[in-house]
Amino acid sequence: EVDRTVCRQGVVLRTQGLISVVLDDAGAEFACATRQLLKQLATDLRHVVAAGDRVWFRPSEVSGGGAQEGMIERIEPRHGVLSRTSRGRQQLIASNVDQIVIVASAAEPRLKPNLIDRYLITAEKAGLRPIVCVNKIDLIDPTDLVPLVGVYAQLGYRVLPVSAERGRGLEQLRAVLAGKQTAFTGQSGVGKSSLLNAVDPGLRLRVQTVSAESEKGRHTTTTAELYPMRWHADDSDASVDGFLVDTPGIRSFELWDVIPQEVAGYMPELRPYVSACRFPDCTHTHETFCAVKDAVADGWIDTRRYESYTQIQSGE
Ligand code: GDP
Ligand code: ZN
Repeated sequence: EVDRTVCRQGVVLRTQGLISVVLDDAGAEFACATRQLLKQLATDLRHVVAAGDRVWFRPSEVSGGGAQEGMIERIEPRHGVLSRTSRGRQQLIASNVDQIVIVASAAEPRLKPNLIDRYLITAEKAGLRPIVCVNKIDLIDPTDLVPLVGVYAQLGYRVLPVSAERGRGLEQLRAVLAGKQTAFTGQSGVGKSSLLNAVDPGLRLRVQTVSAESEKGRHTTTTAELYPMRWHADDSDASVDGFLVDTPGIRSFELWDVIPQEVAGYMPELRPYVSACRFPDCTHTHETFCAVKDAVADGWIDTRRYESYTQIQSGE
């Protein structure tokens, strides 16, 4: 058991080799090693430290002005684990991810609802709550979004229209991000960086630092990094409003491989019909006596969403 009189609680911002950088509740960072016992217990991944982990750590005596150090003694149980299989081994990317914001743009690049659907499917597979954020609404008539918002709302997906440039919808977005660890994903050019910097101007430097570093050969990195976000006027470093979970893999949409056969199971409006098809291996594309196709014909399933489905099936 952890000695709570000397140990402190914190969140792992990133891991670098054997060292984990932990942010404590008072806003200080500690470079921590992991207690040997925890590593010996790591027959599965429960005791390997990942970005996003809530931990208890023992601060060491500070040695003259250097960075503060410590020892991780305990990892709290996790939820929202992002992982992937690499060379037959399960690899942790981030933990305690509460939700994923899928950023799309209303124009420049043009709105691609079928691409949003693919992101939604991967979020469903990862078990993460998706929120769709449509940026650059300053470039369109916002009422153009009403049909799209309607279809997604019916499926239980929240859609936030925003403009990073005009500062529109930012309060709603901040409300969604408050107190949560959130990953952002979306095609390049839709305005993810602009949006994040609009949400928290203090993030600007940090976001740029990471991309500059990754260009110097860190692009093979698959582990995540956590960035504290702050938007309330408060001088204390301890006041964190939310965390951004950033990984190159999430941004470039290569994190989860969804296979065509499982897609219907990750589309909430298709799922109920699947078991009613005549053929158990029905692909819901060319078959006769397909309950999914009947539901599309009868108007229970949105035609455009079904097109997304068939596109994925045909490997487009
Ligand atoms: P990222 O690749 O998703 O990170 O996108 P960036 O943040 O780099 O933005 C791509 C381009 O879109 C830049 O030229 C931004 O100035 C522009 N942009 C971002 N947000 C908005 C917006 O709300 N409205 C308009 N009109 N342009 C935007
Ligand atoms: Zn079918």
